[in-house]
Amino acid sequence: MNRNQFPILSREVYGKPLVYLDNAATTQKPLCVLDAMREEYLNVNANVHRGVHWMSQQATELHEAARETVRKFINARSTAEIVFTRGTTESLNLVASSFCEGFMKAGDEVIISTMEHHSNIVPWQLQARRYGIKLRVIPMNDAGELDMEVYQGLFNAHTRLVSVAHVSNVLGTVNPVEEMIRIAHAHDVPVMIDGAQSAPHFAVDVQQLDCDFFAFSGHKMYGPTGIGVLYGKEEWLEKMPPYQGGGEMIATVSFEETTFERPPLKFEAGTPDYIATHGLATAINFMTEIGMDNIRAHEQELTRYATRRMQEIDGMRIFGTATNKDAVISFLVGNIHPMDMGTLLDRLGIAVRTGHHCAEPLMNRLGILGTVRASFALYNTKEEVDVFVDGIKRVAKMF
Ligand code: PMP
Repeated sequence: MNRNQFPILSREVYGKPLVYLDNAATTQKPLCVLDAMREEYLNVNANVHRGVHWMSQQATELHEAARETVRKFINARSTAEIVFTRGTTESLNLVASSFCEGFMKAGDEVIISTMEHHSNIVPWQLQARRYGIKLRVIPMNDAGELDMEVYQGLFNAHTRLVSVAHVSNVLGTVNPVEEMIRIAHAHDVPVMIDGAQSAPHFAVDVQQLDCDFFAFSGHKMYGPTGIGVLYGKEEWLEKMPPYQGGGEMIATVSFEETTFERPPLKFEAGTPDYIATHGLATAINFMTEIGMDNIRAHEQELTRYATRRMQEIDGMRIFGTATNKDAVISFLVGNIHPMDMGTLLDRLGIAVRTGHHCAEPLMNRLGILGTVRASFALYNTKEEVDVFVDGIKRVAKMF
């Protein structure tokens, strides 16, 4: 991997070479993505979908080509199943809002899990208040693996949807979503997968998973901020009511009655961020040229290496020891407060995240207030892991 694609990685902070290990929060952007977006602003910029003029058609072509790139990336059947959103959070809110409005009533239930990000909890709670629906929560063991037996027992005549993370942003656990989807479908219940932490790290095939909805964010996979994707099976998107109203999503409008476009446009009210969709497509091409399997292998090796080296440290507690684990390591050392660890590592040029990681219910389950989290991307190196581990040792010595 050519790190020169990421000039920001050569920066120094506090006179130290930057070691960027906050990739689960957001990744850095390669030059090819920045160039593609700049090039479009400089040479093609025009609003999409409604112009007869040349530039508008060029911009529309780039925007719709991006949809096709996304379709191929997750192997959706059709571009009608690819809705552009602002990110995972908006994708989850869209489904929570439209699915509940369309198909749920008081007493109905949604199954989520203990390790969900707030963005897969709060949208359901907002709808719960509106419609009187209930949340059921899949528990986990101390390794951070979901209890599949309890999961199976949560289904009843009121279950309408399952919504779970593919990969936990705190524990790194890769949940057995294929099996979970099979179980849900046996009860005729559709499944939404939060892919914010999986799509950047390994190949996802929505047809093989057979998930009904899948969400991810561009900025966590080398693409721009403010753009993300909701995949939804066409049969669901056809039936679901619109999420927001405005231009682009209508077929005809009168004061008496409005008819809507078909998916995906039905869910894309207003001018889309067509520059960002082109940026996202460029990021996807960047990743697929490297190869998702190569990205996975590299990040798995880094995670294993870092875990092994971190275990050399006295008082090290790693949270999340699932057999199937991705490129995230959450930890605490002795009774050093995660904020202190994070702040002191920062002074050494090492960027990690500290706190509850938008997963307060998971922190409660673990009986802690927060952790320090290191998360890896395709550009990280073993040398950086060494700097990171030496950094933790230095901080630990100070306490
Ligand atoms: N789900 C998970 C598992 C995440 O890690 C994140 C980002 N931390 C989100 C959802 C929300 O993503 P975004 O902020 O890009 O909408």
